Amino acid sequence: MQKNYDHTQFEDKLYKAWEKSGVFTPPTGEELIKSGKKPFTIIMPPPNANDPLHIGHAMFVTVEDIFIRYHRMKGEAALWLPGTDHAGVETQFVFEKKLAKEGKSRFDFDRETLYKMIWDYVQENTGVALNQMKKLGASADWSRYKFTLDPEIIEEVVKTFGRLHEDGLIYRAEKLVNYCTRCGTAYSELEVEHEEREDKLYTIDYGLLKVATTRPETMLGDTAVAVNPKDKRYRDLIGKTVTVPLIDREIPVIGDEMVDMEFGTGAVKITPAHDPNDWEVGVKHKLEVVSVIGTNGKMTDKAGEYAGLSVSAAREKVIDDLGNKLVEVKPYVHSVGVCYRCHRVIEPLPIKQFFIKVKPLADKALAALNSKETVILGAGRDKILRHWLLNLRDWNISRQIVWGIRIPVWYTDEKKLDYVVSETSPGEGYIQETDTFDTWFSSGQWPVVTLKTNKPEDFEAYYPTNIMETAYDILPFWVMRMMLLSIYLTGKSPFKYVYLHGLVRDEQGRKMSKSIGNAINPLELCTKYGTDSLRMALVMSTTAGQDSNTGENKVRGMRNFGNKIWNAGRFIAEKQAEDMVMTGEKDGEFTKKLSEVTNEVTKLLDQMKVGLASETVYNEFWHWFCDEGIEMNKQKKVSDAMLKEGYKKMLALLHPFVPFVTEAIWQEMFVDEGLLISYSWPK
Ligand SMILES: [Zn+2]
Repeated sequence: MQKNYDHTQFEDKLYKAWEKSGVFTPPTGEELIKSGKKPFTIIMPPPNANDPLHIGHAMFVTVEDIFIRYHRMKGEAALWLPGTDHAGVETQFVFEKKLAKEGKSRFDFDRETLYKMIWDYVQENTGVALNQMKKLGASADWSRYKFTLDPEIIEEVVKTFGRLHEDGLIYRAEKLVNYCTRCGTAYSELEVEHEEREDKLYTIDYGLLKVATTRPETMLGDTAVAVNPKDKRYRDLIGKTVTVPLIDREIPVIGDEMVDMEFGTGAVKITPAHDPNDWEVGVKHKLEVVSVIGTNGKMTDKAGEYAGLSVSAAREKVIDDLGNKLVEVKPYVHSVGVCYRCHRVIEPLPIKQFFIKVKPLADKALAALNSKETVILGAGRDKILRHWLLNLRDWNISRQIVWGIRIPVWYTDEKKLDYVVSETSPGEGYIQETDTFDTWFSSGQWPVVTLKTNKPEDFEAYYPTNIMETAYDILPFWVMRMMLLSIYLTGKSPFKYVYLHGLVRDEQGRKMSKSIGNAINPLELCTKYGTDSLRMALVMSTTAGQDSNTGENKVRGMRNFGNKIWNAGRFIAEKQAEDMVMTGEKDGEFTKKLSEVTNEVTKLLDQMKVGLASETVYNEFWHWFCDEGIEMNKQKKVSDAMLKEGYKKMLALLHPFVPFVTEAIWQEMFVDEGLLISYSWPK
């Protein structure tokens, strides 16, 4: 053996040897059912197909790979099914930024051309993410790889929509939706972020009463003024009319208990088209909906002389034009919804969209949590998920972008009054819906559709899966949607355990960001210090649901651990010429301790405590096996044969965490036993 472990000489070679051996590919579902072998399944959270990996991806690859290697060594049919996501809005947004740099926009291309351009762009980059996962040691079954826009996946996703529609769980309605006028699409409530902003509160004179608002430009779309019927100041005015300044529209004064008597003047303007609360009031009181802001972010024709102005320009002009009707302006801090992608203020707009009735689906997901069919690991995350499930509104699944799966709906006329759901055109004269599905509608079916479209009977054999391992910040976006849709499709919750890893922060505990410049590139660290060092640094302090800190120093430090394993191997390998049969007086004690360590690591991995398991194996190897075991061997109290046997078991226990260095040594010392990756887990 060489003096030092040089990862650059081993990693690629060993990965190729593993891949070639076929060990990543467990039997087809059909074969598995026949063999009676126990399945162990993890569906990989599909990274965005066009993005290189960041440190969070390195975290999930490490944790999932540890689980998979462990269960594979235990003799189970360990399936780790990889894939990538087309990531609808996110990818189109990135692509449009690229177009903008070239002085172009999406409006310069027809739908088909734009789709093709994004497709090519994504294909170019997909290989990068996949190769990076391999570099991180991911022992995933690449022969079962899926992309969310593979034709067979699209077919399944489209079928699901048809089924939901038949079951009366889909409807099309004009509702107020969260719209980003920059991204040009609607979002579900989950994609809206909330930011505290300093704005102004304007008090405007409507004649009989005054109203307070943060958005004077929307007064052009007012169709009522509301007061609380309990409010003595105003209750006599209910039923009378007032005139909206600037447009001279007569609107009624209505009574509604939702009006907060303490806020502003206690009288509020009602603009059903541009405020979610006003929309509700409008539905209740059958008010007219006057839409003065369009999806392009400009004032519509209904805004009279303000038509064509941007929202902010219209606001300024309205304020100027109000003159003495504007009676007060004061600073006001409030929370506003912004686009999670581009951070522009979300504009609530009334448009016709497709919705899923989520209540029946959410009830079943809650039942799965109650019966422990699915268990959420990670401090308090179960409660958060339940809260979401109890308070979900119907899910708007229409997106006004081209990069995605087109909604399989056809209209009989230009006005789009009636529609039919069909996978292909129902006949001549039909026009297809231009909207695509929310990207989470397809990824929400991921555990089902990836298995259903794979090898024979994979779904029957490998579903439900064992662990869903992902970042806690996508619990409502993704994990919840997978439960809603997978239970609907199969009657079974898609996973037994949800393991949520935390954010990886820098060594000072700060969030990694490009602007601070503290983000670390996982692949650079792999090249510099070896993949094992990065994996160990990531996993050593991790606890489900909690953030952890990692930086270059920690990764560099872990390189010493690889060297320690290597040096112990060299020490033992050199003994081979000596008599291996002799027994030492402490052999019994040594065996006992070895089996304790084995039991402890096994127990922790069964409990999915990867952080503790890695700490245990690290400490025991370093401080027990090397500091005590090797020392006792030097004093002839532990025999060479015993030490070698112990080392072999330690390599197996270490393998899921530091696969490369352990396999490299195995190939030097125990090559007759084949590959360590397929060796049996010690008992
Ligand atoms: Zn946006």
